[in-house]
Formats: sequence, C-alpha cells, structure tokens
Amino acid sequence: MKRYETVTPKLTRSLSRVNIVGVAIALIVSSAVLLIYEAISLRASLTDVARLQAAMVSENLSAALMFGDRQAAADVLRHLRSLPYVESAAVFDKKGARFVLYAHEGISELEQNEGTPEAAQHSKRLSFSDVFVSAPIELNRQRLGTVVLVATTAQLKTDFARYAVFLLGASASALLISRFIMTRMKLRLNDAERRLEYLALTDPLTGLSNRRAFFEELDCRVRLSPRTRSGLTLVLIDVDDFKTVNDTLGHVAGDELLQSVAATLRGAVRSTDIVSRIGGDEFAVLVYDPAQKHQYHSTAENIIRALARPLELHGRSVRVTVSVGFSRYPGDAGDAAGLVSSADVALYAAKSSGKNTAVAFRPAMIAETQRRANLERDLRVAIENDELGIAYQPQFDCITGNLIGAEALVRWLHPVEGPISPAEFVPIAESSDLIVTLGMWVMRRACRDALEWNRAAGASVSLSVNVSARQLRQLDFGESVFQTLGETGLHPKLLVLELTESLLMANVDLATEVMRKFRAAGVRLSIDDFGTGYSSLSYLQHFPINELKIDRSFVCALPASGQPIVTAIISMAHSFGLTVVAEGVENPSQLEWLVAADCDVVQGYLTGQPTTTAGILALIAAQHEQLGAAAATDDSHAGARHGTGVAHD
Ligand code: C2E
Ligand code: CA
Ligand code: CA
Repeated sequence: MKRYETVTPKLTRSLSRVNIVGVAIALIVSSAVLLIYEAISLRASLTDVARLQAAMVSENLSAALMFGDRQAAADVLRHLRSLPYVESAAVFDKKGARFVLYAHEGISELEQNEGTPEAAQHSKRLSFSDVFVSAPIELNRQRLGTVVLVATTAQLKTDFARYAVFLLGASASALLISRFIMTRMKLRLNDAERRLEYLALTDPLTGLSNRRAFFEELDCRVRLSPRTRSGLTLVLIDVDDFKTVNDTLGHVAGDELLQSVAATLRGAVRSTDIVSRIGGDEFAVLVYDPAQKHQYHSTAENIIRALARPLELHGRSVRVTVSVGFSRYPGDAGDAAGLVSSADVALYAAKSSGKNTAVAFRPAMIAETQRRANLERDLRVAIENDELGIAYQPQFDCITGNLIGAEALVRWLHPVEGPISPAEFVPIAESSDLIVTLGMWVMRRACRDALEWNRAAGASVSLSVNVSARQLRQLDFGESVFQTLGETGLHPKLLVLELTESLLMANVDLATEVMRKFRAAGVRLSIDDFGTGYSSLSYLQHFPINELKIDRSFVCALPASGQPIVTAIISMAHSFGLTVVAEGVENPSQLEWLVAADCDVVQGYLTGQPTTTAGILALIAAQHEQLGAAAATDDSHAGARHGTGVAHD
C-alpha cells in the first residue's frame, strides 16, 4: 500500500511551499508599496512645512528688500537657525541677483550655492535629495524678489529607515505566523488525507484491506510477477451459512464472527501474504510465492484448520466452517482477472461439494460450472412444467418385518441427458431459492401419494420427506407444511421430516421453534445422515426429534468394521427414546447384524429399491396377503418376524 502513502504528502508539501512563497511575495509587494507611499508622504510633509516657512519668511523680508537693507534681511533669515531642517535660505532681488544668504552651520560652499529659484522649480516628489522651495517677496502685490529655502532630508531619511525596519519586522513576523499556521494546517491535512486513504482502502469492520485495495494490489503483483519470477496464489474464502448465523444470533454476533474470522485468517498466513475482506462474508488471501514452491496447499490447509476451532460468540461456542477455492498464477491464469475468476470457480466447486472444504482450480471446472448453470436453468423449467417425479424407498420394521414407511426421493428425467441424480441436482437447487419451490413440490406430491396408498390399502405407512436448510430458514416453512397436510388430507402422524444435523446446528433457535410446532401437531422429525456431521447426541436431545438415520457410510462398513460406532449410536438413541433407522442396507450380513444389534428400522437396496406409488401399494397388498395367510394357517412359530421386504431366517 506504499504507493498511496507517498503520493499525497508530496503534494501537500509542494502545495505548502507554494503557499509560503505566495505569502512572501505578497508581503514584499505590499511592503514596497507602503515604503514608496511613506517616502512620498514624508517628503510631501517636509515640502509643506518648508513652503509654509518660506512664506512666513518672505512676508518679513519685504521691507528689508524694499530698502535694500541686507543686514535686516540677514537678521530675518537668522531666525531660521532654530529650525534644523533648513539647510540654507537665499533671498534674490527682482533681477534674480542674490541679495542675502543664510546657511546652517557646516554647510559647504557648494551646497550654499545650490538654492536658486531655478532649482526650486524642479523639485522632485520621490527622492531623498534636498527639498527646494521658493516663495515670492511682495509688497502691495508688487513683486520685490524671491526667497529660496533648502530643506535637508536627513531627518526624513532617518524616519524612513525606522519605518522600513518596522515594516520589515512586521512582515517577517507575518511570514513566521503564516508559516506556523500553514505547518499546522499541513499536519492536519496530512492526517485527514491519511485517514481518507485508510477509509478508502480498509474494511472498517475488520481492519483488513477492502475489495478495492485488494484488487489493486493483486493487479500490481501480477504485473510485477514475470520480472520477479515469483508465483502467486489467490485464495477465496467464504463463510459457510453465514446468513444463518446472522438470522439466528443477530447482526452483532454476525459482525463479531467476521471479526474473529479476520483475526484467525491474519494469524494463519505469513506477513508477506495479503488478507482482505472483499465482500459480506467473503475473504481473500493473496499468497506470495517467491520461489514458486507452491505453498498454496499448506496455506489453504492452515486456513481451514485455523477456522475449524470453535469461536466464542456472545458466550456461545460456535463452530464456523468455510469453503475455500484457490487458483495459481501463472499456472491457472495469465492475468489478475483470470486469476480471480478461476479462484471463483474453485470456490463455487467447494461450496457445491458440501462446503467446509478447500478446492484447487482445475480447467475442467469451467465446463462443470457451465453444466451446473445449464442444469439449474433446466431444473427451473422442469419444476414449472411438472416434469419431476418421486420414487419411494420402503422402510421395514426389524422386529415384525412389516413395511412401516417410505422415503420420498425426487427423480428427474432430463429430456436430453436422461436421468440425473438428486445428489447432483438437489445441491444445485440448494444454492438458490429453487430448493424451496422444489421442496414444496415434493411435499405436496408425496403427501398426495401417501394418502393414496394408505387410503386404498387401509394402511398406515408413513412418508419421510427430506428438508433442506434453506427451506427451514423460510419463515413460513411450518405454515406451508401444515397447509399442504390440510389440503391433501394426510394425517400429520404419517409425515416424517428428515433434517440433517448441520442444518439443525446452524439454526438452533429457529429450528427448535419450528420443530416444537411440528411435534405438537404429531409430525415426526428424523435426523438424516447421522454420524457425518458434528454428532452430539447430548446436544441433539435438546431438539424434539423422534428418529435417527444412521448414515449409509457406517452401515456400508458393517459387519466387518464400524460395529462399535453403530452399537454406541443405537444404545444412546434408545436411551433418549429415539427410533433408529439404518439406511443403505445392501447385503444380508448387514441386515442380520443390525437386527441382532436391536436396530428398529432398515432401509436399503437389499430390502427395497426406490419404487413408484404403485410399487408401494403392491408391497402393502403383498403384506396384507401374507398376514392373512399367516392368520389362516394359524402358524405362529416364526415369532412375529414376518415381512415383505425383510427376509429372516
Ligand atoms: P438421502 O436422503 O440420504 O437418501 C438416500 C439415498 O441413498 C437415496 O439416493 C437412495 O436412493 C440411496 N440409497 C438407498 N438405499 C441404498 C443402498 O442400499 N445403497 C446405496 N448405495 N444407496 C442407497 P438418491 O435418491 O440418489 O438421493 C440422494 C440424496 O438426494 C438424498 O440422500 C437426499 O439428500 C437428496 N434428496 C433426494 N430427494 C430429495 C428431496 O425431495 N428433497 C431434498 N431436499 N433432498 C432430496
Ligand atoms: Ca433422507
Ligand atoms: Ca440419508
């Protein structure tokens, strides 16, 4: 950021220099004008005084001149001795001949002869030379002669010098004062400028550089890179589910969270790396890699690891996860803009792959991103045109072997690409509000189907519906579910909502409130994919839930490994009074182990593939038939372990 620091203070410095020179010139010019004025006015007043004196003397000289009495004239002139400024005075007769002369002591012969009527006529206004004035000597309006008075400017010069010294002093003081004021102003201006710059380039909440500063620096470093032969890695970091924290814990907590993420990030990178907040919950780190050693992996890992520790927010321990996408220069892009868009694509991939992960840019991602964008557009159309379908995967009771429920799994037959897995398109829908529309479509259709199979067969086979985080965040989610139940006529007791742990953890207050309402109405709540999130059974007991679904990954590992975990989950769930569902049961040994381990319900390809409504109806019918046959033969040796899907020995 050094570039900005140097530009403006230089400008202020030269501006203030210009100001000082300006003030000095103004003072010199005004002093010169004042000095000239002073010189003129001093000389004018000396001239006036000399003229007055000459006039007075001339009046007293008329008689002496009339009678040619030189002595009397000299006596009159001798009075001038008391006036030190009068250097000499001469009386000339009508013909212009000098009649009598008076000269002050110490006046040279040459100077004595200077006072002539001609000299008096050419007296200057701006000069420090002697002042010559003349006055006519008259009697009864008859001119008898002329008196010429020469006044010395010695005193004038002294006065003028004194004035000049005073003026110089005053100007110097003015200059000093203005310099002092200007220096202070300059300091304040510098401060203000630095503050403005800081504000323009800094994020006020976290103190990190802001988007503008970051991209300017990025641009600069990318430009310099070929010369220094150094590499750069751009790491983009997005706080997962930040909106949820903001919505549930409030904006103050949200701000605190961002500040603490900022501090953690700063601690996780080296001092040569730049950390910046470039958006609401988006941060960026520019990793400087001088030797092109590709340290990006360690930096990205450092970041994820540092942020994995729980943060204290309002006395609550909150676990924040982030999605990280990064791209490298010059490997992934040729310029700054390319580097940013590559990192963006990688970040998008990280978010879509379930968040809480770091993903490096790969060129193939561009095509994937394009595909996602196309799928999102097509999915929107498919929902509008009612082109989606639902498959129902049966769930069986481990003790009776009876069909007790079915999970609704959305299906999409793309007109060009064929069937697309919900594992691909549901996350796409989840990245926008499309999931809300999709979720409600599934809910409405599935409730209608469940009513159909239960009504037709007189059964009570429940319906499980998957609910996404974004749906639960909708303030009217509960209301719309109840409305759907009312419209379709499905009994609330037959509806099970499957929620994931992370969804609950991120929405604690909101989730608890909505869940209480569901529970009160008889709707059951199930925790899906249990064991993959931050499984905390003791925490889960705060939620009004009814059921746990052990994640497929644990069931898959049975019976060879995974037994201790699954046993622990089953026994803890039972101690909290929860029903345990094992999903993804694929082979008989898994089923056998689960039944023996006291699992309550199973769901999987072994017991039943996802099927149509007709498939579920057929299962119910087959079950009725079996039960009827069993009653008819009165054969009870199997100890109640019958079922359509669960095969028991
Ligand atoms: P899920 O909720 O965990 O659903 C179970 C998934 O496991 C389903 O995949 C199902 O077909 C599959 N499965 C069932 N038994 C077995 C088995 O024995 N072995 C194996 N390997 N897989 C089995 P599906 O239908 O592809 O759905 C994938 C995910 O998509 C679901 O995972 C769920 O998270 C999501 N999803 C599906 N339908 C909806 C929906 O209507 N709404 C929402 N929000 N998500 C849905
Ligand atoms: Ca599910
Ligand atoms: Ca699941």
